[in-house]
Amino acid sequence: MTDTIETGRRLCRCDKGEVVDYRETPDHGWASGQWKREYSRIECPECDAKYLLSGKGFVLRSDWEARDREQRAVWEKEREFLKSPPVAAVFERLAKRMDEQPSVAAIHRLLSHHGLTHESLNTFRKKWSGGEDWARWHGDSYLLGRLREIGAISKEKHPEIVAEMDRLKALHDAAKRQLPLL
Ligand SMILES: [Zn+2]
Repeated sequence: MTDTIETGRRLCRCDKGEVVDYRETPDHGWASGQWKREYSRIECPECDAKYLLSGKGFVLRSDWEARDREQRAVWEKEREFLKSPPVAAVFERLAKRMDEQPSVAAIHRLLSHHGLTHESLNTFRKKWSGGEDWARWHGDSYLLGRLREIGAISKEKHPEIVAEMDRLKALHDAAKRQLPLL
């Protein structure tokens, strides 16, 4: 059970309703001060339909929804890119390179050396089930970025992968932009 108290109140954007701040705490005394939750609510049907709260200001719901759609579209493109033949080929080569190592310890050493795993040898060994499996579980944008940093992916060897990575990064950054505060 919780107690909710009102901690503040101010006019909404159209001045016909209000934005109300609340603080929620457990209703048993012994836990007081342990946790609290603070939130604000637009208590005006008109403004609530049009705006969302962001910090002490408002953003347009339509702006927020547009950015949300844009972000989802970028994630979808990233997922497709990771499954595309050129990227799949890079992951396959990596898997093959791992499987060619003489021992699991050698694979662990190789990956650790390039910062591609931070697990202890023991943990790594317990989970190891082949290069293909490893690449399937770890084959994400982060791994691609690391492979580029260590030179396993380069503009010279993989121009289309690098170009697409840069294009996706720009889309990703654009989709993370701050919304205009009203
Ligand atoms: Zn209002």
